[in-house]
This record gives sequence, structure tokens and C-alpha cells, in this order.
Amino acid sequence: MSIARGVETRTVRLTFDGRTATAREGQTVLEVARERGWYVPSLCYHPKVGQAGLCRVCVAEVDGMAGLQTTCTLPVRDGMVVRTDTALVQAARRMNVDLLLSAGVHDCLACEATGRCDLQDAAYRLGIDRPSFPRRGELLPLDASSAFIVRDPNKCIHCFRCIRGCNGTVVNDVLDMGYRGDRSVVICDDDLPMGASSCVSCGECVQLCPTGSLIEKKAVGLGRPWELATVRTTCAYCGVGCQVNVHVDRAANRIVRIDGVEGAPPNDGMLCVKGRFGYDYTSSADRLTTPLMRRSRSDALAPATWDEALDFAAERLAAIRDRDGPDAIGLVACARSTNENNYAAAVFARAGVGTNSIDHCART
Ligand code: SF4
Ligand code: SF4
Ligand code: SF4
Repeated sequence: MSIARGVETRTVRLTFDGRTATAREGQTVLEVARERGWYVPSLCYHPKVGQAGLCRVCVAEVDGMAGLQTTCTLPVRDGMVVRTDTALVQAARRMNVDLLLSAGVHDCLACEATGRCDLQDAAYRLGIDRPSFPRRGELLPLDASSAFIVRDPNKCIHCFRCIRGCNGTVVNDVLDMGYRGDRSVVICDDDLPMGASSCVSCGECVQLCPTGSLIEKKAVGLGRPWELATVRTTCAYCGVGCQVNVHVDRAANRIVRIDGVEGAPPNDGMLCVKGRFGYDYTSSADRLTTPLMRRSRSDALAPATWDEALDFAAERLAAIRDRDGPDAIGLVACARSTNENNYAAAVFARAGVGTNSIDHCART
């Protein structure tokens, strides 16, 4: 038994492909395998949107249980013996992945998701080099109406991850599965183009999609995952401090795309439209890289050094304070600054200038 955050959790022991593992009661078999880095293909499960049991690619045999079990929905039990290295499991997984590949159009060579696609990885691990069954039905049109996202329904495997994320995680309630049977397709609102729907372009669905069915528009053609460096950092926009992975083409000195960091506070992978897609300012020719000063009211703004600008501001503030008193000066802090910067601004106003006239733009 162990105690985590004041809650007692029982530990259980199970055997997984001959390896013994200790797990916390309440975990699923898939979670235990993932924690240990044991590869189990799964396409519909994502830790943030929870169990699904839809794709049936994560199946395993379990001693004492009839038929194949989906490990993403199977709670661990003490003494459980799980097998994924059997011919039956491998054949079932291969058939399920083969059917998913056969139902869509999977041109991996040209696909933006190549190298970060769970379906491609599963096919590779299972030794599937091409779909076995002929594809039925019409090619469905791309939806490129959104400013930031391209939807390709031909690469959708109906895993519901985007739908569960949009409705349950970011609670924007835009996506649903429309139509029925082999005509099922992810729809926005009442089957509107994404760009005309109530989508707020948070990109959570793009981050959750395990295939190339939802892709960031601006990143198309700018680099494969293995060509990009990933830099973990804090979003530069506001003081929330969302954790992001910035994927960078170092040779071109260019940001290719940004993801939220899954499992990390405060955002657990979620981002707003600015944090995820609004990174063009970093390479904007209009970006200020040096202070601009207007030395008198009639002067135009002109570049200055930081020392010049800071000295000028300090002299002018001191002159106003000495002439009119500290309450002639007010300071408005910025919602984009961190708590630490806003604290420093308050100390500067109160202790440096001597005024309590300090406010924050988020209140207006
Ligand atoms: S979605 Fe995945 S499997 Fe399909 S074409 Fe793209 S990389 Fe290949
Ligand atoms: S971008 Fe956000 S709001 Fe729009 S469909 Fe995706 S998850 Fe929903
Ligand atoms: S668009 Fe992607 S996340 Fe959504 S159901 Fe299709 S494959 Fe799954």
C-alpha cells in the first residue's frame, strides 16, 4: 500500500509478457505499460481524454478472461497475467490497423504527419507495408477554411480524440461525429466549414489527433519532425505561464510550430490561439529590437541605446516627482508580464517613485 497526496492506494503485481510489474490499483494495463516504456499500439487512447476502447489496437490476452481485452479500459488486478506477444493478439492488431489504413487515403510520403503519426507507427511495428483491402467510397474534400487548421477527412480514423478534447477538455463544443456508418465524418457545429464554425482555433484537436487528419496550416512543408529541434519554454504572451514545445528549424532560424506540453502545469498541453499559432511576430520585420525615443514632443521617434532610454526615463520621472509630487505619476502594469515582473513594477512604483497609483490593464 502507498499513500499519495493523503489518499491510500493499494499496489498490485501483474505479469506482462513475462515481465513483472508493480502497479497502482485503478490504473489500466495500458497505463502500466506506457509508464514503463513497453510499446502497446493504441490509436484512440490519450491520457487527457481518457479511456475509449474504440480502435481495438491495444488488445491483449489475459489469463482467465475470455476473448481479447482492450488494455486501455482494463483495470489491473493483483496476479493478472497479460500477454501481447501471442499470434492471436498480433493478428488482431494487424487486422484492425489494416482495416483503418484501407478505409482511408494514407499517402505517408506526402503527409505532414509522417514521423509523428500513431497510425504510421502502428503499421510499421506490425509490419504492414500497404493496406490489404481496396478503398471504397469517394475521396472527401479537404477543409482549409480555417485560418490555422487543415482538415483531411480521408486520414481520419474515427478515434474521437479531437471530439472528446474539444468538448470535454477545452469545452468549446464545436466538434461531433456526423452522419452514420461508413459515411461518418467529424463535423464542426451543424456541418459547417471549420472557418465558418464556432471554432476558436485553440488547436487542441490538432494536438490530440493521432494522424494527419488535423494539421497546422502554416507548418505544411516546413520540415519533418526529425529535422527540427524542440525547445521547451514558457509561452511569451501572458502571465499564465503555459508550457510549450517550440519546434524550430535552426538552419532557417524559424519557428515551424508550437505544441503545448502534455502533463505539465499549468496548461496540460492546452493553449490559446495566440500561444499556439501566433508566433510570426518572432521573425516580423516590424519587430522592435532597440528602444525608440522621442526627445521632445515635436521630435519623431528615433532609435536609442538602452542606457540612453533608461537614463532619459529616470530623469524625466525624477523631475516630475520633484516638481509635482509622487502622485503625479501613475503606473499601469501589463497582463502579459509575469507575476514576478508585476511585483517588481509594484515595488518600483511604491518604493522607488513613492506612489500607490498603480493599476493593471487586466482590470480595464
Ligand atoms: S495520417 Fe499517418 S498513416 Fe496516414 S498518410 Fe499521414 S502519416 Fe501516413
Ligand atoms: S481548434 Fe479548439 S475550438 Fe476549434 S475545433 Fe479544435 S478543439 Fe475545438
Ligand atoms: S480527426 Fe483525428 S482526432 Fe479526430 S477522429 Fe479523426 S483521426 Fe481522430
